[in-house]
Amino acid sequence: MKTIKNLNIENKKVIIRCDFNVPIKDNKIVDDTRIKGALETINYCLEKNCKVILLSHLGRIKEESDLAKNNLAPVAKRLAELLNKDILFCEKTRGPELEAMVESLEAKDVLLIQNTRYEDLEGKKESKNDPELGAYWASLGDVFINDAFGTIHRAHASNVGIASNIESAFGFLIERELNALSLLNRPEHPFIVILGGAKVADKIGVIENLVTKADKILIGGGMAFTFLKAKGLEVGKSLIDEENIEFCKNILNNYQEKIILPVDFAVTNEFNNDEEYRLKDIDSIAANEMGLDIGSKTLTLFENILKEAAIVIWNGPLGVYEFDKYKKNTDELLKYVVANNIKTILGGGDIVAAATSAGYKDKVYHASTGGGATLEYLEGKKLPGIEAIK
Ligand code: AMP
Repeated sequence: MKTIKNLNIENKKVIIRCDFNVPIKDNKIVDDTRIKGALETINYCLEKNCKVILLSHLGRIKEESDLAKNNLAPVAKRLAELLNKDILFCEKTRGPELEAMVESLEAKDVLLIQNTRYEDLEGKKESKNDPELGAYWASLGDVFINDAFGTIHRAHASNVGIASNIESAFGFLIERELNALSLLNRPEHPFIVILGGAKVADKIGVIENLVTKADKILIGGGMAFTFLKAKGLEVGKSLIDEENIEFCKNILNNYQEKIILPVDFAVTNEFNNDEEYRLKDIDSIAANEMGLDIGSKTLTLFENILKEAAIVIWNGPLGVYEFDKYKKNTDELLKYVVANNIKTILGGGDIVAAATSAGYKDKVYHASTGGGATLEYLEGKKLPGIEAIK
């Protein structure tokens, strides 16, 4: 892997693609985790006396009215506080003002350029990787560091475009992500996959890619019901993905030994947090009931399998974790893998959100920060942002 440490960046103008796509409300940053995630690479460049030029997207820009709410100015302010130094901010994504600011940079200066997606307003130049835009941004620096894992599955001008024009490498954040996720390419055994979340449809690629490599796939969450229905069981009003019952049947036929389904659930009559729930075995769910969390017997079943695991990848919560009542067994299983030091990688999105709110995110072996990017990696796809630098 080509990382920042393999490049001679001393005294150079370094362009870093960061992921500053943070939630902002009333001009205030609600969660600065992603900004903090970029500090290691930025600080390393400052130690090497670089002139640092930062690029990031923020939200989506479809029309004029999207510009103001997706302005990166609040990020520049927060970054200045975190780095404890002045940050130069250019309101424009190109042009004489930007070029003059780049020209006047001195060693250890940091310049943040406006939201790269401002370039999407006319002709989606950033998101469609307009070759002229990538070449223009590349012309502002000597070397390029990609440290935005969240967009690595996309070919944009600010990642693939720049990387195609100047010497490039990955930053520390991406290096950590790829080091952890690549353990799944030739996994130690037993290799256990935990899949949860809402729909089978979203996980088909992941199942197809991992079912051949894994020793067991433990299935929870809403998606378990489509598998159970495919086996001919009554699942009441639980979430069903009708279009994928056939897919589940095929997986169950071909990999009978590997697929482990829940044996009980916390069931209720309405989709809310107020109604009472009861625990029911899978063969006794009534027509007017829905399962919103795995049950305690399933928790024990999963724990017994995980006990032996050499490595675990977990994507998707096992219940409706947004409701206090139904996050219980997602939290319990997180607690179990942490307490037993089971090498577990959380595969982005909702399971990382669940682990964060339960306080386990920093205690697991690795919590991947990319939503779509992590999922595409787990599907075994080649990701353009990786290919462009590899
Ligand atoms: P995903 O983005 O596919 O990981 O799905 C996460 C979503 O799945 C969360 O919003 C959960 O509330 C939802 N979910 C998990 N278990 C269930 C369930 N038993 N019934 C309905 N939704 C569920």
